[in-house]
Amino acid sequence: MEELVIIIGGGPAGAAAGCYLSKEGIPNLILESAVHPREHVGESMVTATTRIFEELNFLEVMEQEGFIHKYGASWHPAKAGASLHVEFSEIEQEGVNQDYTYQVDRAKMDMLLLKHAEKMGSKVIQGVRVKEVVFENDKATGVIVNIAGQTVTIPCKAILDASGRHTVIGKQLKIKEADQNFNQFAVHAWFEGVDRGNRPNDIHIHFLPVERGWVWQIPISDTITSIGVVTDKKVFKGAKEDYEAWFNEMSQGAPDIAKALKNAKRVNKIKVEADYSYKMDSFVGNGWMLIGDAARFVDPIFSSGVSIAMHSAKFAVEQLIKALKVDDVSSKMLKPYEDRVKLGTEIWYEFITLYYRLLPIFTVFISKQEYRLQVIQLLQGNVYDRASAPVLDAMREFIDTVENTEGHILKPYLDSSLSNIENTPAPHLAIT
Ligand SMILES: Cc1cc2nc3c(=O)[nH]c(=O)nc-3n(C[C@H](O)[C@H](O)[C@H](O)COP(=O)(O)OP(=O)(O)OC[C@H]3O[C@@H](n4cnc5c(N)ncnc54)[C@H](O)[C@@H]3O)c2cc1C
Repeated sequence: MEELVIIIGGGPAGAAAGCYLSKEGIPNLILESAVHPREHVGESMVTATTRIFEELNFLEVMEQEGFIHKYGASWHPAKAGASLHVEFSEIEQEGVNQDYTYQVDRAKMDMLLLKHAEKMGSKVIQGVRVKEVVFENDKATGVIVNIAGQTVTIPCKAILDASGRHTVIGKQLKIKEADQNFNQFAVHAWFEGVDRGNRPNDIHIHFLPVERGWVWQIPISDTITSIGVVTDKKVFKGAKEDYEAWFNEMSQGAPDIAKALKNAKRVNKIKVEADYSYKMDSFVGNGWMLIGDAARFVDPIFSSGVSIAMHSAKFAVEQLIKALKVDDVSSKMLKPYEDRVKLGTEIWYEFITLYYRLLPIFTVFISKQEYRLQVIQLLQGNVYDRASAPVLDAMREFIDTVENTEGHILKPYLDSSLSNIENTPAPHLAIT
């Protein structure tokens, strides 16, 4: 029986999976359709990712390459008013020995990660797209690729689908479900000459006075800043495909971002990320596992994507190793991985949904000392244990009070389209 594990995609999820497999001496092949460096959205990290970088001996590369150190995050109101900020150093994190994470040029970081995977033992082939996964008796047994004009089937023991929002297996098996609550779009580009204010290394989130609208401001280098406008589809429709005009108008929508962009000059092309929230019905099947964005995508307001991608790679490999040891890669054997990752993504999702449900809630909770540290813990990306996030229950109760109190000052801010927020698994399901 073929012992090879095939990884579809060499982004953060695929490269991390390759590193973890090689660490255990398991032969693995990463097939990447692009040739790195390739551009990618998602430039602000959370500190939980640092733990993974360290485990993979990649932290020293991050340091050597001089990525911007991110110490915290700042939020700016849609109308004139004071901004808020948090710092990661306010609460210690187990296994993380630095009080900052990174803001990155993803083309560079992803290329370095993929090279690192190769150095650790993965075989990497770039410029090769997986066309299809081969199934025999409901079990994934290989992939079909086109190499030098030839269609080739590569057999394997198991497949990790890390193809990002291309969702190779999700599309093939038709198990992709659009998100019922979120239908967001983003338009973004890099700029020079942005006035980064007095916390230049932070990610800055500027609220916009439109439905679920905000702007990100992420420093990429000493001179380049990434700016992205995010809104609900209803607002985005107003762009009528003139994305530059729409971007220019939207990014003037709040005072602090308008000021930051006063003398800014765009230095690369405008890009659009459309309708990106979804999840797969299952994250595992016989002989296959979905990791990173190939499994689920949650709204990026809290910069969770790369952290989820790399954690899911770690958790998937841990379970796959158990399965390989007993020569059983059935969906039943792989299922504990799904439960573990779903728990983490659902905690993010609950946090994000409560946040959009009542935007001022964030200000309220960050200002209450008893909850501030728990909120920061979530922002650090430590989301895999629901028991340590009672702040989410407190947020729910707070929203109920606003909803049920006649004339409550925050009532006009409630987003009624999000009234049906699913509860994440109960605390007793928390996995340590
Ligand atoms: C608007 C927006 C803002 C975001 N902001 C942030 C942020 O600030 N911080 C953050 O952490 N995350 C952010 N994200 C999310 C982040 O971009 C993703 O979560 C992250 O890139 C997921 O990594 P991945 O490895 O799963 O997928 P990807 O990084 O997308 O990698 C998938 C790889 O698979 C390859 N591939 C695709 N199809 C095939 C195929 N058929 N065969 C072979 N290879 C294939 C692709 O070329 C790609 O290299 C944001 C996302 C959006 C949309």
